[in-house]
Amino acid sequence: MAAVSLRQIKKAFSGFYTLHGIDLEIADGEFVVFVGPSGCGKSTLLRTIAGLEDITDGEMQIDGIRVNELPPVKRGVSMVFQSYALYPHMSVFENMAFGLKLAGMKKDEYTPLVDKVAKVLQIEHLLGRQPKALSGGQRQRVAIGRALVQKPKVFLFDEPLSNLDASLRVQMRIEIARLHRELKNTMIYVTHDQTEAMTLADRIVVLRAGKIEQVGTPIELYHQPDNLFVAGFIGSPKMNTLAATVSRIEDGVVTVALKDGTPISLTIDAGDAQVGDEVVVGVRPEHLFRAENGVNQIKGQILATEQLGEATMLYLDVAGMSDTFVARMPALFKSSGEQQILQFKAEHGYLFRADGTAFRRLFPLAE
Ligand code: ATP
Repeated sequence: MAAVSLRQIKKAFSGFYTLHGIDLEIADGEFVVFVGPSGCGKSTLLRTIAGLEDITDGEMQIDGIRVNELPPVKRGVSMVFQSYALYPHMSVFENMAFGLKLAGMKKDEYTPLVDKVAKVLQIEHLLGRQPKALSGGQRQRVAIGRALVQKPKVFLFDEPLSNLDASLRVQMRIEIARLHRELKNTMIYVTHDQTEAMTLADRIVVLRAGKIEQVGTPIELYHQPDNLFVAGFIGSPKMNTLAATVSRIEDGVVTVALKDGTPISLTIDAGDAQVGDEVVVGVRPEHLFRAENGVNQIKGQILATEQLGEATMLYLDVAGMSDTFVARMPALFKSSGEQQILQFKAEHGYLFRADGTAFRRLFPLAE
């Protein structure tokens, strides 16, 4: 177990910077998930922690020790890759024991260790097989097992579940959460999957173009994103955003007018807002419902509906909005025509300045 400290970490490939000075303190035993769009530097950051990439500048500490100059084997980290990276000619047992053997451990020492980990991962019956005779999920368990036997201080996972089918992903996700509860190791995990990030992380780090946009618990990021980028990145389907102008500021309530003049009231700390300011209203698809009274209405032309079984997704063309407006409606929702009027509660709305920074929501956790 160990804390990981990243101070002004920079990484350049052939003079081109991929990481622009990352500062991050990861606590001992914490589960931290890196998310961000493709190419933002998630894997590069993970690989620098593993020691698979040198850093160009900055300082990195693991368990209080500077590791900048240490090779991967001396850092006390183990990495699980998306591709599993198992040795095809070795049995599962040999794959799992390989690192221990390299480190000079004798067979009678490492055999009980491998057996124990195989039992935890329920792969004891596969120890004699070669990787080609395993399913994707079984291979991933072996890759995790190979990391586990090393008893690393820090586990690094680079999209470990993305090659698995949907049901296996869920199963392995629950297993990784269980492993973290039991082992209490520091874990750092890269993923594209919203659900993995939200369910596994103690804290999520949102990266964009080699910089950190926000760090927080999944619930903090969902309810109080610092800016439009984070707001759009956390939550699926993503938050709808509508251009508006501030029309009234009262204690705890900001009223804005959408482009078609519709008034929208939000329980927001007005901060530096002034009447007449151009702003952006945010509303998540899951917070919309069929309009019942006059407040906070959104009118749109229905473009498509999708019946998902547990919900109905409604896609609307809303005046003044370039993207399609998305609403998650109840399973048996039926639209009554080509037009739909939806509504949301004042405390469910978000508000952003023209530069994308967020106003503070006053009741972000209210239901
Ligand atoms: P993805 O989600 O697509 O895996 P990512 O966020 O993990 O993306 P990285 O793989 O870290 O992104 O890549 C970040 C940037 O660094 C990309 O522009 C990539 O092309 C560049 N990069 C990564 N590795 C190298 C390399 N060895 N040489 C040159 N450029 C690289």
